[in-house]
Amino acid sequence: MKTPILFIVIPCYNEQEALPITAQRLTALTDDMIARSLIDPASRIVLVDDGSRDATWQVISQLHGADSRFEGVKLAHNAGHMNALWAGMTLSAERCDCVITIDADLQDDVNAMYGFLEEYRNGADVVSGVRSSRKKDSFFKRTTAQGFYKLMKKLGVEMVYNHADYRLLSRRALEALLSFGEVNIFLRGMVPMLGFKTAEVYYERGERVAGESKYPFKKMVAFAMEGITSLSNKPIRYVLLLGALCALLGLAMGIYIIVSFFSHHVVAGWASMMMSVWLLGGLQLMALGMIGEYVGKIYMETKRRPKFILEEHLK
Ligand code: UDP
Ligand code: MG
Repeated sequence: MKTPILFIVIPCYNEQEALPITAQRLTALTDDMIARSLIDPASRIVLVDDGSRDATWQVISQLHGADSRFEGVKLAHNAGHMNALWAGMTLSAERCDCVITIDADLQDDVNAMYGFLEEYRNGADVVSGVRSSRKKDSFFKRTTAQGFYKLMKKLGVEMVYNHADYRLLSRRALEALLSFGEVNIFLRGMVPMLGFKTAEVYYERGERVAGESKYPFKKMVAFAMEGITSLSNKPIRYVLLLGALCALLGLAMGIYIIVSFFSHHVVAGWASMMMSVWLLGGLQLMALGMIGEYVGKIYMETKRRPKFILEEHLK
């Protein structure tokens, strides 16, 4: 097998603090990989600026100026983590043999890439980095994240447990992924749909090298919702089930009310009426909201908007 050309794709949103450190580590890493003939010298590190508001782009331009190994991609607006990855992968696909995506904060151990490459050499098309422990994550992040993985499994979405978006894709797996036409993308749920030979590499998750999480609670919830509604139809089915249960309950209530009406005198059931009004009202709203969520998805999909808009590409 020939030495592969590796493209490392990194989404960067307001990462001016982390980038210099990250770049330094990746320079050392790729130097070593080239020296050991694990990757071709034509390999690149693609830094995707996802519409940052700080000096991220200046840092990227400098890196590119100093070392042609660094490519810069500047998105015209904040398209989001997934779309930034998509942009980087799209612009790399034609020039690489395999691509590795990793976050800019290096919470994921870069040394796992040696394992990725080994699995790739052994014929894997998809290699997922799996966190063997989340000790370094806050209790909150850990429990919410793990709850999310379990929920997704219940909803019938195939996902690698404790694997985020640190992975290697061979050229053909990448091309297959990029042929997905959907606009709402949730990569870690889509990659398992590709099939191909897959492998897992375990590593310890560390702390951010610098800066703060770009995933505040609000974004995390939105991300989880995105994952659920863009990949699973089950919530609709559950709402339907709940509706059916409520209807049954209403029927039982009706019988109870009729029986008590005939057996002893009751004041017209204000309480039960109010209860059902509230209960049904709430359920209906919930169902409507859920349906609205999907209708919204259809609406977005029909637009066939581009997933990202490229502003500049230094290569
Ligand atoms: N990111 C991005 N666009 C966004 C938010 C985040 O490209 O709108 C990038 C960010 O720069 C980082 C990666 O996505 O490289 C993961 O973000 P972060 O490390 O802040 O998330 P956490 O590890 O806290 O979940
Ligand atoms: Mg992080």
